[in-house]
Amino acid sequence: MNDAPVSAGILPVTPYRQNCSLVWCPVSMKGAVIDPGGELPRIEHAIAAKGVSVEKILLTHGHMDHAGGATALSQKLGVPIEGPHQGDRFLLDSLAEQGASFGLSGAENCTPDRWLEDGDTHTVGEAVLGVRHCPGHTPGHVVFYNRAAKLAFVGDVLFKGSIGRTDLPGGSHAQLIASITERLWPLGDDMRFVPGHGETSTFGFERKTNPFVADAVLGGA
Ligand SMILES: [Zn+2]
Ligand SMILES: [Zn+2]
Repeated sequence: MNDAPVSAGILPVTPYRQNCSLVWCPVSMKGAVIDPGGELPRIEHAIAAKGVSVEKILLTHGHMDHAGGATALSQKLGVPIEGPHQGDRFLLDSLAEQGASFGLSGAENCTPDRWLEDGDTHTVGEAVLGVRHCPGHTPGHVVFYNRAAKLAFVGDVLFKGSIGRTDLPGGSHAQLIASITERLWPLGDDMRFVPGHGETSTFGFERKTNPFVADAVLGGA
């Protein structure tokens, strides 16, 4: 497949400093917003500053800091919402409630135009974004990756030096470990990832150093 490397800009939003990402094809300048949790004026400013023509909103999972602003942004830009996997429907149906109980004002419930499955692909201009279903933090969590740029957007599955929490509704520690080792590691050690919070890293670095999922920790080697 003809796969152009995506360009990406990261914009931490909400009091949770959630890494909303703007990704675009540098050839066509068509792009997508991943996880617009809130602070839409800042996101819209970034879109205009980069000159990106946004075609869709992509969601990794149904927590308010990732998806709370999706409905409003979709209406403003007139673009569809794609993802996550339908396992997160119960969370997207309760975004307003999540926002109210955690003090995040303006979070709105969300009904995606398309649910995603493991192995799906998106095109953003001439760039291809693959989809991996990675349950564990939430049942319907997905990650997006672009092979040409060796760049993945993993939401709250994996962080630099840590992994997603599994004590929230629908969480499963065993599933999360399986998602990371069976669905992320095969994408390659040199794949850089943008986590939902905090700094970027690479899968290879985490396989060496992450106290939860390093090869030496899991394999007992
Ligand atoms: Zn989350
Ligand atoms: Zn999060």
